[in-house]
Amino acid sequence: MTHLTVSERRRLTAVRAGWLFDGIGGQLVADPVVVLEGARIRSVEAGVVPPPGADVVDLGGATLLPGLIDTHVHLAFDAGADPVASLRARADEEVVAAMAEAGRASLRAGVTTVRDLGDRGYLSLRLRGRAGLPTIVAAGPPITVPQGHCHFLGGGAEPTQFGVRRAVREHVDRGVDVIKIMASGGTLTPGTHQHRAQFDREVLCAAVDEAHRHGLPVTAHAHGTSAIEDALVAGVDGMEHVTFWSADGVDVREDLMCAIAERRIVIGATVGMVPVPGAAPPAEIACRLPAVRANLRRLHELGAPFVAGTDAGIAPMKPHGVLNTAPAALREIGLGPAAALRAVTSVAAGVCGLGHRKGRITPGFDADLVAVQGDPLTDPSALQRVVAVYAHGARVRR
Ligand SMILES: [Zn+2]
Repeated sequence: MTHLTVSERRRLTAVRAGWLFDGIGGQLVADPVVVLEGARIRSVEAGVVPPPGADVVDLGGATLLPGLIDTHVHLAFDAGADPVASLRARADEEVVAAMAEAGRASLRAGVTTVRDLGDRGYLSLRLRGRAGLPTIVAAGPPITVPQGHCHFLGGGAEPTQFGVRRAVREHVDRGVDVIKIMASGGTLTPGTHQHRAQFDREVLCAAVDEAHRHGLPVTAHAHGTSAIEDALVAGVDGMEHVTFWSADGVDVREDLMCAIAERRIVIGATVGMVPVPGAAPPAEIACRLPAVRANLRRLHELGAPFVAGTDAGIAPMKPHGVLNTAPAALREIGLGPAAALRAVTSVAAGVCGLGHRKGRITPGFDADLVAVQGDPLTDPSALQRVVAVYAHGARVRR
């Protein structure tokens, strides 16, 4: 039996397709043959005969891409009409089961890595490394103020320098991969204000300092302008949303946008949604969207790095797996065809700390692949026509 296991492990799978986007290059490669050995990519060549003895999977004219990487999801939210209430009604075991199902839905859509930026009680850590699920990069419960944005997830901290340092250390002890901190309020949490900062600036600075002392990156939920400014000063690695939300509209702050771009702070653009009959963003969001998009467009022009963080799970328009709709939206804010694909592959891998093994189709990298029908450079909607997915070398059942 041992012998069989070894030969099984060495078994090669040669995936042939019509085209390949390698995660970096600006053009598709024709006639690729990607050879998978176990969970790794062994070779990537064009127009060659598959190695003898390999299992050959011919995907016809499909285009292969690296498995997609969503830098902002909430596996614990069910994408229903009231995800906060449904989460509250579930015991931990039920939540874990639902999170696993959310992970499988992501995989089926071609999303092979998710960064969970807010679970309840560190539940996403239980799912990390579980077979049949995407690779999970986990923040645990987001650090927030008592009764602050998403406090019900369990990340409320005393809003002092001591309090947030202690909260960060608890997250470190639990083994999270990234610290998520709620710099501003959010619409999901009644009683908080999206346009207002939640922490004093020195407190936010202390949280970021503590995380960096432990080698963890920090990304800040930042809508309001003062929260964005505080996060910038605090030295966060990334910012989510970055809407410049004000009490009655959206601010335009060229000075802050220049500084964000200059410091290479990663913008997690909240993009990606599927149409749901009868559902539309709430009026206070819809009326601000054109100005929010203009700010994101300006940040991109200034050279800020972009990834797509869908916030999958928080609404019916944002089901798990919705990332494959995001590149089209990134194109609308000015990213070029290849840049929009890099944002959901190689750039996102780097942001997740996985740039050495994910986000590219190249020898030695993880065998995470998605095959789609069409050319995703000329038509980003091709990403929604998924024909095959491999995660860690295993084909995902559709
Ligand atoms: Zn979120």
